[in-house]
Amino acid sequence: MNLSKAQITELLQNEENEANLLRRADEVRHQFVGDEVHLRGLIEFSNICRNNCQYCGLQRNNKKLARYHMSEEELLHTAKQAIDMGFKTLVLQSGEDMYYSQQRMCKIIEGIKKYDVALTLSIGERDYAEYKAFREAGADRYLMRIETTDKDLYNRLDPGMSWQHRHECLLMIKELGYELGSGIMVGLPNQSVESIAEDLLYLKEIGVDMAGIGPFIPHPQTPLKNAGGNNLHLSLRTMAIMRLLLEDINIPATTAMESLHPQGRIMALKGGANVVMPNVTEGEYRRLYELYPGKACVDDTPLHCRTCIGAKIAAIGRKVGQGYGGHKNKMPQRIKQ
Ligand code: SAM
Repeated sequence: MNLSKAQITELLQNEENEANLLRRADEVRHQFVGDEVHLRGLIEFSNICRNNCQYCGLQRNNKKLARYHMSEEELLHTAKQAIDMGFKTLVLQSGEDMYYSQQRMCKIIEGIKKYDVALTLSIGERDYAEYKAFREAGADRYLMRIETTDKDLYNRLDPGMSWQHRHECLLMIKELGYELGSGIMVGLPNQSVESIAEDLLYLKEIGVDMAGIGPFIPHPQTPLKNAGGNNLHLSLRTMAIMRLLLEDINIPATTAMESLHPQGRIMALKGGANVVMPNVTEGEYRRLYELYPGKACVDDTPLHCRTCIGAKIAAIGRKVGQGYGGHKNKMPQRIKQ
């Protein structure tokens, strides 16, 4: 559906209409992508990051955080366990940790792609040759949020980075034939509803296959510790409008939503979302991947998370998808070498 910036802004601001908006998004979700909820097993394999994003608990200036990265063996072992648990898509996510060179990443991708699984990378900004090599090694999808389309805000919140460069990375990823995931945070300091409306139009314009929308949650070890945020309802409205604008894409019920409310992901699944990314990271690492405080499920095990989310999905009359769950149910295509 097409909506103007003014119409989106009005929907974002209208709290009284929220229930109607989420109901409409739920109908559109049902009509265009059906009742399956696709699960992606999320492996948070390194919390080391070269960047200093002001909102993020992994920022390099956070000296209080104990840092880790998994060895290649650990990462492959975690992936295999998730595959054995039945996950058909894995997401490898990390800070921008340059230990994972092109060569190392390709070896990991090839190791995982020996199994019957779709693979998403979420490792930040790299150069074209690296994105190309990862794609040729078998990576199917790439997830990198633009965070905000307010360029001044972005450049303030992500010192040393450039909005334009991140945007160009997204275009390269798309050109290389990955399924493209992007998204934003909602409730950043000095982020206007008009700029959120522009974010949604941007995601439509670049043609994302997946859009992740999550509330900004201030982290106590960052300069934004007192910056407000925590806006679950505005995030839900933003996500619902995304579903109206891009009817058939994948939209996750985000962990940040669950972190603000014990039923956050269910609220999202009933308001337009059709994907959940259960954490399959093991043990202590789950706690150390602390993007924001109060992150949901940090004390649980991968099996507990899989069982718990399966039960929640069944309880709202939906079913766990059995396939790869790509955009428009596309199978991941291997790139021609
Ligand atoms: N380094 C990769 C990248 O930049 O795409 C992936 C990891 S990054 C930590 C994953 C996402 O966490 C970011 O895109 C951001 O939207 C989200 N995030 C970071 N700090 C957050 C916070 N305080 N509240 C909510 N989400 C946050």
